Amino acid sequence: MGLLLDAEQSFTCRSCGECCRRAFDIVVTDAERQRYEAAKADEWFKESSSSEPGAVSSPFEYERSGLLRIRKRPDGVCGFLSDRNRCRIHEELGGSAKPLTCQMFPFSFDAVSGETRVSVSFCCPTAARNEGRSLDLQQKEIGDLAGRWRRTQNPADRPLEWVKGMPLDSELLESMRWVFRRLLDLHEPTFSLRRNVRRIAALLDDWTRPRVLKLSADKFEEYVRLTGEFALAKPADPAPAKPAIASFLFRGFFFASLVPWASRGASRSGLGLRLRLSRLLLHVHGLTPSFDGLRFGAARRGTLDIDAEPFFTPAYHVLRAAIENLGSGRRPVLEELSLAVGHLLVAEHLFLARKPGEDAAGAWIRAIMDAHDVAHADPASTFAKFLLSLAAPPSPLHLFGARGPAPGPISTSSA
Ligand code: SF4
Repeated sequence: MGLLLDAEQSFTCRSCGECCRRAFDIVVTDAERQRYEAAKADEWFKESSSSEPGAVSSPFEYERSGLLRIRKRPDGVCGFLSDRNRCRIHEELGGSAKPLTCQMFPFSFDAVSGETRVSVSFCCPTAARNEGRSLDLQQKEIGDLAGRWRRTQNPADRPLEWVKGMPLDSELLESMRWVFRRLLDLHEPTFSLRRNVRRIAALLDDWTRPRVLKLSADKFEEYVRLTGEFALAKPADPAPAKPAIASFLFRGFFFASLVPWASRGASRSGLGLRLRLSRLLLHVHGLTPSFDGLRFGAARRGTLDIDAEPFFTPAYHVLRAAIENLGSGRRPVLEELSLAVGHLLVAEHLFLARKPGEDAAGAWIRAIMDAHDVAHADPASTFAKFLLSLAAPPSPLHLFGARGPAPGPISTSSA
């Protein structure tokens, strides 16, 4: 099985333990659970940050969809994380005994057209910063992990689609990728990330017109190649477009994207969690001035100078990687690209809403990580479908492109 990976992506684990604190589930197989139970892993499990080791009930539980997962502490941290920021399973049984889910992170795999596509989670700070060894130099290790994933999951091969129900040939996807990358990198007349995203949005608008979607496969391919070449040869400067409905729906997208973040960090369950999320929803719709220090209104009126550091390098990396990783088969390619830009847009709003202090670079990476928690939702889940309905393609690209550069490196000023 060939590996399809982003050769410009780097990663080396820094053992920061961040992945043990994120909102997503740590799924285990039945065989892993049996092994841990036989080793009396419940004796290493901590019920809270302040409690002594020792589980009061099984460290494993089934979630609603039937997946078996490690129980989290009330503060959202994996119960097997020690006070010294170490995985207790790793310490007691060795790194190769950790759940495959943990060994794979930040990678995820998809079986597409007979190959394995490798994606990287931006919930990992090292991956978001693009630090460490190039994935290209780690093909052997990643290939071994992918092989174990295939043997455990036995995944069915997924077809590529452009939009729902419209098959996409892998060669045509490569042509689209080539055009998107060159549009993203255009220096015409000068470099502007937002202008270049507007150019991609304009092309997506064209490639999703009803008349174009009705073309036969051959004609669609020809149309994409011709219009893609034309967009590169004679780059337009599309005016910023901010569709009113898309702007309104983005509030819902922002709220839904923050649910994992808002649910984490303190002991909250049942009614308490519902009340907290209700407060967040009221705030996002402008009915309360702030939520836990967030000021969403300021974020909507402000804007980041995305072409200036420390914002440019991570933002460009997220967009570039989104293009390189298109074609996971989890959802149509158009939706993949739109959601990726949507996550970056959420990160920008989150950064501005938090009123960052001195460490703007660290706060920007943290915002990118927090905005990507929802990228771990199963695309078939109701939540993921709801999320997508709030960011209809390609509206996130229009919204991102319409946020013009500010006069200074950071502007949180009101319009
Ligand atoms: S978040 Fe990334 S760098 Fe940190 S421990 Fe997990 S995989 Fe390693």
